[in-house]
Amino acid sequence: MSQSLTQLFDLDSLLTPEEIEIRSTVRKFAAERIRPHIAEWFEEGRIPARELAVELGSLGVLGMHLDGYDCAGTSATAYGLACLELEAVDSGIRSLVSVQGSLAMFSIHHWGSEEQKQQWLPSMAAGRAIGCFGLTEPDHGSDPAGMRTRAVREGDDWLLNGTKMWITNGSIADVAVVWAQTEEGIRGFVIPTDTPGFSAPEIGAKMSLRASVTSELVLEDVRLPAAAILPHAQGLRGPLTSLGEARFGIVFGAIGAARDCLETAIDYAQTREVFGKPLAGYQLTQAKIADMALEVGKGHLLAYHLGRIKDRGDITPEQVSTGKLNNVREAIAIARECRTILAANGITLEYPVIRHANNLESVLTYEGTSEVHQLTIGKALTGSAAFR
Ligand code: FAD
Repeated sequence: MSQSLTQLFDLDSLLTPEEIEIRSTVRKFAAERIRPHIAEWFEEGRIPARELAVELGSLGVLGMHLDGYDCAGTSATAYGLACLELEAVDSGIRSLVSVQGSLAMFSIHHWGSEEQKQQWLPSMAAGRAIGCFGLTEPDHGSDPAGMRTRAVREGDDWLLNGTKMWITNGSIADVAVVWAQTEEGIRGFVIPTDTPGFSAPEIGAKMSLRASVTSELVLEDVRLPAAAILPHAQGLRGPLTSLGEARFGIVFGAIGAARDCLETAIDYAQTREVFGKPLAGYQLTQAKIADMALEVGKGHLLAYHLGRIKDRGDITPEQVSTGKLNNVREAIAIARECRTILAANGITLEYPVIRHANNLESVLTYEGTSEVHQLTIGKALTGSAAFR
């Protein structure tokens, strides 16, 4: 009788009954509603995002860790567990939820006016309105301080010009939170996407996160009223705080992808026969499985620990960096190792492994690349900033 990873590390003893229930609900939704279709969506490079957003809204996972405005107000750990279960099926679906809840909704919730919150948050929590978050530009990814998008005052209005790149949910969004240089430093703007001058062409030919919409945002003389500015965000702290929220979800999410790869590889090894007996009975295979299980277990423990620190209210950006760097890096290594167990079958979409491996290439890059997190941790430990 084989044990599960959860049993091996006694992981559930670290969660509350409510968190376990939320996890089961999301796991069931992901298994029934997403898993049967995900390989096809990935292959076609298309997802029924609007339909899914409404269903994810009914499930209660959009902005679930925010309070008020029809948001569920769960613990950060519960939100992390939802990300884990969604990413166990596909990083693209978790990206939809992360960008909606942690980037777009969090920015409005944390930095917005009461009017902006009332206008957008309830419909975003329900999935009736989709949000995106535009920080990255074609020439400024890791270094957003160099952004060229500009907002200038014209009387009471703001006039925005510039281009954002690699924006998740961009072409399907009803509202975009966009960051721009102004005379008073970097400021955030809430832009209804039907505003004249705003367009969002989709980026094609991706080999990663194919079940997720990624777009350019083009702003050509986009005229906004004074009330469109996020009143409480000033400088880079605004977008960086929002990014910290989404990174936290990735700490959990990436380990979900790793778990799915490992479970798939264990199942496969138990039935695939080589040289007359199941692959799982060979010492070399068991060494791979044991080493991967250690990393999946440690990744869970790190995620849960960071969840508790966040629930206490005093998590630091450096702590989130440790989780993002470790769990994504290990997840991608695990996906590749699992692929070796599936061998030729591992390169097809019949199994989730290559899809996870390809998706994790994006996850390694967005929300701060691994190098940026190494520099963040390095600075914290040495006191010396090596970013430039
Ligand atoms: P660059 O910044 O050009 O980095 C190139 C390389 O240089 C990397 O390896 C990097 O680690 C390394 N590097 C950078 N600085 C240093 C340094 N100081 N020392 C050593 N090495 C360094 N952005 C958004 O704003 N919103 C979104 O919704 C969004 N969604 C995305 C979805 C996908 C699928 C992808 C792939 C990206 C998304 N991004 C989004 C953009 C993402 O955040 C950026 O790609 C990321 O920040 C890296 O920027 P870049 O690609 O320009 O790489």
